[in-house]
Amino acid sequence: MIELIKKAEITHELDKEEIVKLLEDDSINDELLAAADRIRKKYVGDEVHLRGLIEFSNICKRNCLYCGLRAGNKNIKRYRLEPEEIIELASKAVGYGYKTVVLQSGEDEYYTVDRMKYIISNIKKLGIAITISIGEKTFEEYKALKEAGADRYLIRIETTDKKLYEDMDPGMSHEERKRCLRDLKELGFEVGSGCLVGLPNQTIDSLADDILFFKEIGADMIGIGPFIPNEDTPLKDATGGDFTLSLKVMALTRLLLPDINIPATTAMESLNKNGRIIALESGANVVMPNVTEGEYRKLYALYPGKICTGDTPAHCRGCITGKITSIGRVVSTSKGFRNRKLEF
Ligand code: SAH
Ligand code: SF4
Repeated sequence: MIELIKKAEITHELDKEEIVKLLEDDSINDELLAAADRIRKKYVGDEVHLRGLIEFSNICKRNCLYCGLRAGNKNIKRYRLEPEEIIELASKAVGYGYKTVVLQSGEDEYYTVDRMKYIISNIKKLGIAITISIGEKTFEEYKALKEAGADRYLIRIETTDKKLYEDMDPGMSHEERKRCLRDLKELGFEVGSGCLVGLPNQTIDSLADDILFFKEIGADMIGIGPFIPNEDTPLKDATGGDFTLSLKVMALTRLLLPDINIPATTAMESLNKNGRIIALESGANVVMPNVTEGEYRKLYALYPGKICTGDTPAHCRGCITGKITSIGRVVSTSKGFRNRKLEF
């Protein structure tokens, strides 16, 4: 097993069987996470990039079984922010020192391409990078967002197991999800994807496929988080994802894609109160603190136990900086684009 970790550390290549072995064997966890931490340091250094997350609407037309924002959830108070409010939050984020904002929402048709272009072009004037995470759009729509100034796009594949994906996301097609990722790449976005760990009926085999898929599509960013069952969804009685397994999937992703950006996800911290710091010491180099204000933070309830819903953006900024410096890392002052070190 130790030989396999060494192989991953040196060649950044593992086959599916090897990944499965490492995921199944818990006796090598410390070595695996430490190797991912070394590769993180070697390829992307000690800087941690902060992205200010703006959750601008919890209205969604989709019905993903795991998600609290699903259209079928009648127990949630819905909100959407007006374009001017979103621009105002972005401008406050600049005040807190963020060099990137992530605009995330459910699939809410109120935000037409024209509205998004208006929001993006105005935020762009603030001199920061913009990441968009609003789900599936056509090539033409993505193109318009890119031309308006969006730099990055996040859209998780969730799982590479086609059947599981289509069971979990009724009415959605796995082919279409992959088409989105291809189009975004072709349009020159920095492309972020990722998966949920611990979905019902998800296998270790399919998690290994997920990691290989990230490499195959040339992802620039990969976010991995445990699935956390939500009371207001059909999966309320599911077991949910395991913190350590999520960490291991993330560590293996770092070993195989050494120079990409990997966030320490909020869902990790929801399962373990030190989750993001542990993730930063196991391969991650990005954190996405919330810059959404007031009650909207609570209402953007993808899953329960979401951290910091009572805190202000200013508090979050100070808190995360303290945590990062406490482990000997530094908050980056750059926009944090992927710095390619290797061509695969
Ligand atoms: N609507 C967009 C963006 C918002 S959802 C989209 O779906 O792409 C952002 C991410 O939240 C999803 O990709 C999913 O991986 C995650 N998520 C949703 N429900 C979750 C849950 N119950 N536990 C953990 N993560 C969840
Ligand atoms: Fe909507 Fe995204 Fe939640 Fe699916 S995961 S229901 S698309 S917000």
